[in-house]
Amino acid sequence: MSSPAPTAPAEQPDSGRFGLRLASWYAVVFVVSSLAIVLLTYALLAASLAERDREIVASTLREYSARYASGGLGAIARAVDLEQRTGGRERLFVRVVRGGSETLFASIPPEWADFEVSPLAGRESAWDRVLSGSRRATLEVASARLIDGTLLQVGKSTESRDELLARFRTVALLVSIAIVLAGLAGGFVVTRSTMRPIEGLIAAVRNIIATGRTDARVPVREQRDAIDELSSLFNAMLDRITTLISGMGDALDNVAHDLRTPMTRLRGIAERALASGDPATQSAALATCLEESERILAMLDTLMDISEAETGTLRLERTDVAVDGVIREVASVYEDVAEDRHVAVSQHLENGLVVSADRDRLRQVVANLLDNAIKYTPAGGRVDISTRRERNDVVIEVADTGTGIADHDLPRIWERLYRGDQSRAERGLGLGLSLVRAIVAAHNGTVEVRSRPGQGSTFTLRLPVLTRS
Ligand code: ADP
Repeated sequence: MSSPAPTAPAEQPDSGRFGLRLASWYAVVFVVSSLAIVLLTYALLAASLAERDREIVASTLREYSARYASGGLGAIARAVDLEQRTGGRERLFVRVVRGGSETLFASIPPEWADFEVSPLAGRESAWDRVLSGSRRATLEVASARLIDGTLLQVGKSTESRDELLARFRTVALLVSIAIVLAGLAGGFVVTRSTMRPIEGLIAAVRNIIATGRTDARVPVREQRDAIDELSSLFNAMLDRITTLISGMGDALDNVAHDLRTPMTRLRGIAERALASGDPATQSAALATCLEESERILAMLDTLMDISEAETGTLRLERTDVAVDGVIREVASVYEDVAEDRHVAVSQHLENGLVVSADRDRLRQVVANLLDNAIKYTPAGGRVDISTRRERNDVVIEVADTGTGIADHDLPRIWERLYRGDQSRAERGLGLGLSLVRAIVAAHNGTVEVRSRPGQGSTFTLRLPVLTRS
């Protein structure tokens, strides 16, 4: 037998490129989400620092307004002086303005001298913002009207919080660089560890395809992750393919062997007829040749049917089939044969059992079972065909009181071209039961046998019952 030429896939997928894509995706997702967290943290920090500054200004406004109410301008001046000396509170800009332009009191920390605050004089608003001369910081000023109409203004520079945020930005930049590097490194490591077993699997599969060695197996590791699951499924598939190939090889050997006998006989008959030169002998030989070739054709047809049924390519013309009708039809065909062989055939059929089946194929199945039962039952024996319903199955039973099947034959009678030891005397190809099993399986049914040598056999066939809703 010649081995098939190794076939390489037309386009070999590049697992390296897939790995790179996986790594890039990992790195992008990791880096983008981490940077988003850093940015969010920055935004929240900036907002909370701004909020804190405004709270300080607002509470100072409230406190100094109360002091003014109780102790006048002097009370505010004393409080500011005390703050400056003790350095208790944050540094603040404080100004009291009367009539829109007359400054009664002003306290500005010396380092804020470049804030241009004069245009604010007398302006009452919730929050004013004044840029410093160097434009590096902003003074945020809030004001409140005191009880006598004078205006109290309190402000705070954003300098210190800008400084804090600038530091945070530096740190965040360093952290971001670290995140990007970690993302790239992580992507590489994750991809390497994910791709290694896949690459192993690809290499093993490529090797099997290239060498055509179906006995080679992909290594399966201890971890039992998805890749190992895939590897063991692949191995299981190879096991199945090997079994199928060897089954096909056996079947082919059997077919070749079984064809050889009738073909040799054909040749012998033809040679003898030719040599005889007698027209009567020649026409008798032609008739025998015709018979013999029909036998061969029948065998090849049956073999094809079995293969098609097993591979699922057999066309089934399914209809609703009444089982008792089919059995009565088949039994009537075999009436004469049974009578000739002195075998009594009885029927016990339940009415109204319907299956969804190909009528001709079902007839073929019942005919094969009945044919065997009559064939392997000596004169005086009995064959009984019965049907019943068991849960969701229609059960068809063909029981005989015949020769029975030897224990060592039992597991093999379903094989193609297998014939039991005691059946050599009977006509047959050893294909009937293989065809029965293949057709029944194609109908989602099962068939099994119970047999005792010398006492008879019972073939039980189950098909899903058809219930009309
Ligand atoms: P065959 O053409 O030999 O009958 P089958 O595939 O129908 O081929 O059956 C395979 C073998 O199973 C037979 O050769 C026979 O040994 C055994 N067998 C099948 N049916 C019966 C039966 N009813 N009683 C005894 N042996 C049977």
